[in-house]
Amino acid sequence: MGKRNVPKSEDVVYPQFLQIGSHLVAIEQGESPITTDEGEELYGYWQPLHTGGKIVVDDSLEGGRKLAVFLHEVLHAVSDTYGLELKHRQVYGAAEGLAQALHPWLKDLSR
Ligand SMILES: [Zn+2]
Repeated sequence: MGKRNVPKSEDVVYPQFLQIGSHLVAIEQGESPITTDEGEELYGYWQPLHTGGKIVVDDSLEGGRKLAVFLHEVLHAVSDTYGLELKHRQVYGAAEGLAQALHPWLKDLSR
């Protein structure tokens, strides 16, 4: 399990799990920087279902940036689960737009 997220004033409280299709996907806060097995540094990643099915987000991110990364990985997970074959740039644009639109609301709900 990831560390329990302690929300900062601009932060959204994130769930520990999300139901995506028939899968319960764990949400983890990863130590910054997140480094893949290949040595690549990331703000977050979606580990596909056949290798665990979890989402990890850099715990040093805050506010709308963190929400955008979180939603980015959720969209990759939804795309994989439902066979949508979304391209990274589509996921990127959708996540940025959704984060901007939803952050004020989710931040208020998290108080
Ligand atoms: Zn991506």
